[in-house]
Amino acid sequence: MTTISNRLQDILATIQSAEAASAYHQHVQLLAVSKAQPASAIREAYVAGQTIFGENYSQEALEKQKQLTDLAIEWHFIGPIQSNKTQIIGQNFSWVHSVDRLKIAQRLNEARVSITPPLQICIQVNISNEDTKSGVLPTQLEALAEAISVLPHLKLRGLMAIPAPTTNPAQQIAQFTQVRECYDALINKGFALDTLSIGMSNDYETAISQGATIVRIGSALFGARAALKNTATSINSDT
Ligand SMILES: *Cc1c(COP(=O)(O)O)cnc(C)c1O
Repeated sequence: MTTISNRLQDILATIQSAEAASAYHQHVQLLAVSKAQPASAIREAYVAGQTIFGENYSQEALEKQKQLTDLAIEWHFIGPIQSNKTQIIGQNFSWVHSVDRLKIAQRLNEARVSITPPLQICIQVNISNEDTKSGVLPTQLEALAEAISVLPHLKLRGLMAIPAPTTNPAQQIAQFTQVRECYDALINKGFALDTLSIGMSNDYETAISQGATIVRIGSALFGARAALKNTATSINSDT
């Protein structure tokens, strides 16, 4: 039987060779996406060496965090954010990848006032993915980045995107290139960014070839997700 530990070693080896082949010479981190997985699976991955985990649903994440307080896990929030969840998210995660509007950024900033270090932020960009309404349009990206940069309890690190699912490598590359161009444009304007959060189970090698610094991998590590809550049908709601 293939275990989480076996799959983790395989994924890390694949990441390493993709990294070595990448023209960007970047360091790539694996974010283990544990939505719809029990705390026991997270513990298993942790024991095998994985310390960074991503969750999409704040309530579900909090329940698991309570069971794993003995582990030095760095938690990343990667799901859509409702404004009534900003307090929980701002106080219980180190990173948020899915900021796509100023109001949410401002509320996260307020939630973070008495906590150090600042919350590490990626702006989610919508690169013509009609399946998701999440993400700021590239034309509105610079204004949002500008506004987030002045919030003292947030630290803008980079961009995140969820491309439309496709197994066609040319289409994958075209979508990642769009995100990469947004990222480079911000850096050229003077934003000190170091994080490009693109790539999931089916396309992370391609994402690394296009400059990904964080790949968010769920099913390739933990196996298929059980049809828990609303996760089977949508990765885009936090109900
Ligand atoms: C579920 C999810 C992932 C992981 O997807 P897999 O295809 O299982 O690797 C990555 N990013 C986000 C935002 C997700 O919601």
